[in-house]
Amino acid sequence: MKTFVYIDHFKNDVQPASWEALGLAKSFGTCVALVFGSDTDEIAKAAFEYGADEVVIVDDPALADYRAEPYASTLTALATSAAPDLILFPTTARTREFAAMSAVDLNTGVLTDVAKFEMNGDQLVATRPIYEGKVLEKTVCSGKPVMATIPARAFPKPERVAGKAGTAIKAEAKIDALTTVQGYAATESAVNIGDAAVIVSGGRGVSNNPALGLDEAETAKKGFAMLGELAALLGGAVGASRAAVDGGYITYAHQVGQTGKVVAPDLYIACGISGAIQHLVGMRNSKLIVAINKDADAPVFNQARYGVVGDLFAIVPALTEAMKKKMGK
Ligand SMILES: Cc1cc2nc3c(=O)[nH]c(=O)nc-3n(C[C@H](O)[C@H](O)[C@H](O)COP(=O)(O)OP(=O)(O)OC[C@H]3O[C@@H](n4cnc5c(N)ncnc54)[C@H](O)[C@@H]3O)c2cc1C
Repeated sequence: MKTFVYIDHFKNDVQPASWEALGLAKSFGTCVALVFGSDTDEIAKAAFEYGADEVVIVDDPALADYRAEPYASTLTALATSAAPDLILFPTTARTREFAAMSAVDLNTGVLTDVAKFEMNGDQLVATRPIYEGKVLEKTVCSGKPVMATIPARAFPKPERVAGKAGTAIKAEAKIDALTTVQGYAATESAVNIGDAAVIVSGGRGVSNNPALGLDEAETAKKGFAMLGELAALLGGAVGASRAAVDGGYITYAHQVGQTGKVVAPDLYIACGISGAIQHLVGMRNSKLIVAINKDADAPVFNQARYGVVGDLFAIVPALTEAMKKKMGK
């Protein structure tokens, strides 16, 4: 099977799930990485190192800013001439948008957020969670190429082999945009908990420590700083429940759950989070869940592999100290 893998990036900062898509494509057969943008040689080099058999670069100043129309038209042109069986994308807002536009041009369909693929004869069957993960849907696409997006951390990342090289093929961009990007301004949502391997997450409990003699907001500030220290030590990010976000203790970019981000880190440490279903749907696919909560009956413990019943203000610093010792820091 010949698979195109679109390497998604923002200003040359690659979405790590692009490499996971590359590893998945390799397991199906020949894998061609597509790199669109401007000054993308480094990305092409990385694509070879992550295992691409071929790399097609579409390097044009007109593609420096992502815009759906030229990206979709360029992809359509490449897919029309090379006729891949499958096109894989990491799921991002960008890929959802232009994959759908290109699928219309190519008269095929897009399967989004696919968590598993299997072959049934020569047909690719995709499994994806729907209804907040309560139901797994199996879907096939009768159009060709099949187009599919995969969520971050659903498939293993291939090993990077430094120095593995190849010659990238250059292709032309199709520049037919009606939109022009006029500039960017960074916001707090620059935090991307979706890619973190470790998440230390805080809930309303982070605002509850009467012994400090502070109001809830001040307590939460100290509490989240404490969680941040543990997260930084473990090379991870800080997550939060909606109660913590609604309380103004941390910004929405950190929220995990039905109306926040769906995450699947290797380790999720839930601190002072009760485990409401709307939170659980956002983190229950984590590989290892540890819960710290004062209430032994908190529902979060049903989801956790390890549970610690106690005050997070005592347990989190103790855990941080123990980890520092273990890591020799
Ligand atoms: C449509 C809809 C969408 C929603 N979307 C989301 C979503 O995306 N994400 C989300 O998280 N929620 C979401 N919610 C809200 C959800 O139902 C819960 O209200 C919320 O998850 C509760 O957050 P919490 O666990 O932090 O707070 P609580 O339920 O109040 O739990 C706090 C926990 O902290 C413990 N605790 C208190 N003090 C300490 C301490 N010092 N040490 C240790 N433990 C302590 C308590 O025992 C308790 O279990 C949504 C709700 C609705 C209706």
